[in-house]
Amino acid sequence: MFGRPPKKSDNTKYYEILGVAKNASPEDLKKAYKKAAIKNHPDKGGDPEKFKELAQAYEVLSDPEKRDLYDQYGEDALKDPGMGGGGGHDPFDIFSSFFGGSPFGGGSSRGRRQRRGEDVVHPLKVSLEDLYSGTSKKLSLSRNVLCSKCSGKGSKSGASMKCPGCQGSGMKVSIRQLGPGMIQQMQHPCNECKGTGESINEKDRCPSCKGEKVVTEKKVLEVHVEKGMQNGQKITFPGEADEAPDTITGDIVFVLQQKDHPKFKRKGDDLFVEHTLSLTEALCGFQFIITHLDGRQLLIKSQPGEVVKPDQFKAVNDEGMPMYQRPFMRGKLYIHFTVDFPDSLTPEQCKALEAVLPPKTATQMTDMELDECEETTLHDVNIEEEMRRKQAAQHEAYDEDDEMPGGAQRVQCAQQ
Ligand SMILES: [Zn+2]
Ligand SMILES: [Zn+2]
Repeated sequence: MFGRPPKKSDNTKYYEILGVAKNASPEDLKKAYKKAAIKNHPDKGGDPEKFKELAQAYEVLSDPEKRDLYDQYGEDALKDPGMGGGGGHDPFDIFSSFFGGSPFGGGSSRGRRQRRGEDVVHPLKVSLEDLYSGTSKKLSLSRNVLCSKCSGKGSKSGASMKCPGCQGSGMKVSIRQLGPGMIQQMQHPCNECKGTGESINEKDRCPSCKGEKVVTEKKVLEVHVEKGMQNGQKITFPGEADEAPDTITGDIVFVLQQKDHPKFKRKGDDLFVEHTLSLTEALCGFQFIITHLDGRQLLIKSQPGEVVKPDQFKAVNDEGMPMYQRPFMRGKLYIHFTVDFPDSLTPEQCKALEAVLPPKTATQMTDMELDECEETTLHDVNIEEEMRRKQAAQHEAYDEDDEMPGGAQRVQCAQQ
């Protein structure tokens, strides 16, 4: 014990803060704290620093072990790690453990203190190139921050009064007559104090924020869009939303919105690209260049003798999107082929083709068989258009009579 440097330590401060004698009894301490804490509570316009000091002093002196330590060595002994620490507790916790909640009734100060501010969500448009290579975007946003001049109190003195408009509750009730004997009661935030329940004397208003407690600040945020991020993915800046008194500041959240790409479609980690081949290319081979999202030129070519059929897919491994947080892994690049057939051929072209292509499979028909057949005419259709028209007609029929959801009854009706 005597290994400590014999330095003269201040061991009277806590007693002075509480305004008690050094030999005060626990009851005296309790009484003194209770009186001073109510007087200095920030919700009653007290100084938060003073309030904190009171809580700290009381926390130490009300604990016999800590009090003993403090009496011998002063405040420093309590700061020693392993000594139980001095004043590490929330002064509001100490206060409410004393009173079992708020002694002021109504809106509990603790409840207000823990209110969480709203998150601010911004969409952030990005190109597929951005998501492929990664990028960072600087965005300038304006937000509310607590006024530094008045530490978010809104007043020069730090004092505030109950709002006269709502008696400090922050809410107002309005009554609306809906009809004879019918009344609607509506609760809404008080317009005079904007729901804070407080009002600040005009002369006492902080000149910097005009009593608003917050000022607007421009802030530049740098958003890092990482390789492989997805459409809809969120990038969060914790605690960067609007500040407000007694509020845990919410987050700024950017939601990525991928712009459509003229060439590539993305599905998860894979990319899809459309390519049209001429019939000759489809049959006799092709090569072409795809400029990738990072500007690299990919040479795409067929194997000798290979034939590509209409609607066929082929893939290049590892040329899809980089995977999020594993950018060295990549999905596939799928190529969807369309084959552009010629609209018509001359008899000479047909003859030339028949000479090299596999023979026709059509069976030879006898004249008698042909005589028994009925002649038909094929005509061009746009099948999607036809289907759409049919579906629309069907919907219309349903709308006319809701009692015929199925087809059975309809058929019966039609047959009559
Ligand atoms: Zn009010
Ligand atoms: Zn201010």
